[in-house]
Amino acid sequence: MKRVRVILKGTVQGVGFRPFVYRIARELGLKGCVLNDLKGVEIEVEGKEDKLEEFLIKLNREKPPLAHIYSQSIEFLPPHGYEEFYIKESEGKGEKEALILPDIATCNECLRELFDPDDRRYMYPFINCTNCGPRFTIVEKLPYDRKNTSMKDFKMCKKCESEYKDPLDRRFHAQPNACPVCGPTVNLYDSKGKELGSGYQAIELTIEAIKLGKVCAIKGIGGFHLICNATDERAVMELRKRKKRSEKPFAVMFRDIEQLKDFANPTKLEEAMLLSPERPIILVEKNRELAPSVAPELKKVGAFLPYSPLHHIILKKLHFPIVATSGNISDEPIVKDNDKALKELSNLCDYVMTHDRNIVRRCDDSVVKVIGGIPTPIRRSRGYAPIPIELPFTLKEKVLAVGGMLKNTFAIGIGDKAIISQHIGDIENLTTLQAFEESLLDLMELYDFLPERIVCDLHPRYETTKWAEEFSKTRGIPLVKLQHHYAHILSCMAENKVKEQVLGIAWDGTGYGEDGTLWGGEFLIATYKEFKRAFHFKPFKLIGGEKAIKEPRRVALSLLFEIYKKDAFGVIRKIVKEIHDKDLEILYRAWERGVNSPLSSSVGRLFDAVSSLLDIKQTISYEGQAAMMIEDMFEPSVKDKYPYEIKGKEIDWKPIIESLLEDSQKEKAPTRFINTLADISTKIAEEVGIEKVCLSGGVMQNSPLVERIKENLLKRGFSVYTHQKIPPNDGGISLGQVIYRGT
Ligand code: ZN
Ligand code: ZN
Ligand code: FE
Repeated sequence: MKRVRVILKGTVQGVGFRPFVYRIARELGLKGCVLNDLKGVEIEVEGKEDKLEEFLIKLNREKPPLAHIYSQSIEFLPPHGYEEFYIKESEGKGEKEALILPDIATCNECLRELFDPDDRRYMYPFINCTNCGPRFTIVEKLPYDRKNTSMKDFKMCKKCESEYKDPLDRRFHAQPNACPVCGPTVNLYDSKGKELGSGYQAIELTIEAIKLGKVCAIKGIGGFHLICNATDERAVMELRKRKKRSEKPFAVMFRDIEQLKDFANPTKLEEAMLLSPERPIILVEKNRELAPSVAPELKKVGAFLPYSPLHHIILKKLHFPIVATSGNISDEPIVKDNDKALKELSNLCDYVMTHDRNIVRRCDDSVVKVIGGIPTPIRRSRGYAPIPIELPFTLKEKVLAVGGMLKNTFAIGIGDKAIISQHIGDIENLTTLQAFEESLLDLMELYDFLPERIVCDLHPRYETTKWAEEFSKTRGIPLVKLQHHYAHILSCMAENKVKEQVLGIAWDGTGYGEDGTLWGGEFLIATYKEFKRAFHFKPFKLIGGEKAIKEPRRVALSLLFEIYKKDAFGVIRKIVKEIHDKDLEILYRAWERGVNSPLSSSVGRLFDAVSSLLDIKQTISYEGQAAMMIEDMFEPSVKDKYPYEIKGKEIDWKPIIESLLEDSQKEKAPTRFINTLADISTKIAEEVGIEKVCLSGGVMQNSPLVERIKENLLKRGFSVYTHQKIPPNDGGISLGQVIYRGT
C-alpha cells in the first residue's frame, strides 16, 4: 500500500476535473480525496502500487477536454488510512495561482438538450455544463465557486442542485448551472426603455424584429452586440449611420458552418478554427455578397459561429446570417451593464435585450486571421483570455506591463507565465482610460497581484505611459520605459521561446523611437537585455502629423515633394483630381519648413502612400484600411519587384516610388510593392547574418507579405518566427514589456 499526492496547476478548475478524478479513483478501487484550492487541484490517493500507476496514467490520458495542465508534482508518502474516495470542500487560503478559464462556447451535448422539446432546458438561453459556458466573465474572485460568481444570486432548484452535487453528473459543480425554473432570464425593451416581454416570448419578438430589418442590442457573454440582418443593405446602412461607423467592416454570425459556406470560402484550417470551442471571428474570403456595407471594398469578411445558447436559438429561427458587432458608443468600450445599455445603447437601436446574469468583466469577441498559413490572433480576447502565455524563463520580479495605446492589452508576469488581459481597445479618451484602469485593478485583485516593476511604452503622450508614471510614483514601484518596436520583437521572441539573439523585423503604423522620431520600418538586433537599430527605412515627413494617418495622400505628397520638389504638383494632379493648387501650396510649405510634420520610417505609412499613388484610397476611415485593400490586390503569379537602395543604415524608398509611378501595369503594382518589401528583408537578413528572424508589428498582419518574407528566408536557411498566441499588432506589446530584462 502506498499514498500519492498529486498537485496539478493549470486550467483545472471548472472543467469537470474533480468528478473525473473521483470516477477513475473509484473505478480503480483507490481511496483518498480531491480538492480545488487556490493553486489548482490537489489529489491524494492510496492503494496498491500498480493501481496507483494506472491512476497516474489515466489522469493524464483521459483528462477532461478543457483541462490544460501546466505543472504536475507527484509525491509518494506513507498511507494515511482513507476509508473511501471523496470530494473535499474547497479551501480558501494560500497564494492564488489557480488559473481562470476563458468563456467557452456551448458544447454539443448542451446543444442537443437545448433543441430537445422533451428536455427541461428546451430553448433555455443559459444552458451550460462543466464543458461549456461562461467563466472569465462571471467570476468575481477565486476560488472559482458559485458563491464567487455572478450566479450567486440565483438559488438552484432541487433538480439543478442534485445535478450540481452528483459527482457522476455532467453538471457536477458546473458553477453557472441553471434552468428555466431557477436561473437567469432574458427581457426585451423598446428603445424608450418600455418592457415588452421576457423569456421565450422576448426571444420571439426579437427574432421578428430582426426579420423586419430592425437593429437590436443583445446582451451576450462579454458584453452587448448590435445585431441586424446581414443580407439587408438598408438595415446594415442604418446600423452604420447610428453607430457612426462609415466603413470599418462588421463581423457576421452564421447559424452554422453550412450557412457560412453559402456566403464564404473558408479553407480547411479556417473551418477548424471557426468550429473551435473558443469561437473566434475568422477572416474568410467572401464568395457571395452579403449586404455590400458589411465589409465595403474588402475581399474578406469576419465570420463566426454562435457561441452562446441565445445566439443558437435566435439564428435557428432566421434564414439569414446576422451582423453582430460590439455594442458600444463611438470610441467607448463595449457596453456590459443593463443600465447603460438601456440608457445609452438604446439610442443606436430599436430594441434592447438584456438578461439578469451580471457580466463581471467585459470581454470582446476575438479575431483570428490565417497569416502565412498560421492562425494568428488579431485580437485576443473572449475564449483565450486569461489563459497564460508560458515564458521561456522564470521572471525574477513580478511585472505589470501596461501595453501600448491602440488595441491595448496589459499583462501581469508571475514566475514563468504572463497573463495577458482581454482586449481593452484604443485608449484615446477618458472613458477608455477609465475602462483600462478598472480592468487593470480588477485583474490585479483577482490574482492578488502586487507588481515589483512596471513597464510602459517610451511614448511620452500615450495615456498608458502617463498612467504608469503616476501609478509608479504613488506606489513607489520602479518604472521602466521600453521602445515600442523592441517590445514587438520581444513579444515574438517570448511566445516562440527563442533564447538566442535575433534579427527582428518590426514594421507597423508608428511608434515612438529613441531619437524622438516615429519609427515603424525597423530591423533590430535584439536579445532579452538590449537591442540595436541595425537598419531602417529612410525617414519621411508626415505632413500634419495625426492628419497624415487618416489621409494617405499626405504621405504620398511628402514622398513626391522629396523626390520632385514643386514638380510633384503635376504628378499628384494626374492621380488625384480633386486637389486644389492652394492646398498643394500649403502642404508644400508645411513640408518644406517641417511644420507639424514629424519624421517617420513607418512601413505602414508607405503602404498608405502606395494606396494613394495607385489611387486605391485617398482618405481612410479606420486603421490599416489602405494596407488591407493592397493586400486584396495581391497576385501570387507576379514575382518581380521594384529597385531600391540601401545607403548605410537606411533603405531608400525613392527608386521604389519612381518605378511604381512609371509602372505601365498598374494592376501588378501592389504585388510588386509587396515583393519589394520581402526582398529588402531578405537582403538585410543576409547582410546581418543572424540565423533567427522574428517578424512583428501591425504590418505583419499582411498575409502575402509574411508569406513572401518567410519563403525567401527559409530558402536561404534562416529560421523565421511569427505570432500565433498573441497579436502581431499593438495588442501584443504588453507581452514584450513583461519579458524585457526578466532574466
Ligand atoms: Zn455543455
Ligand atoms: Zn434549476
Ligand atoms: Fe506597433
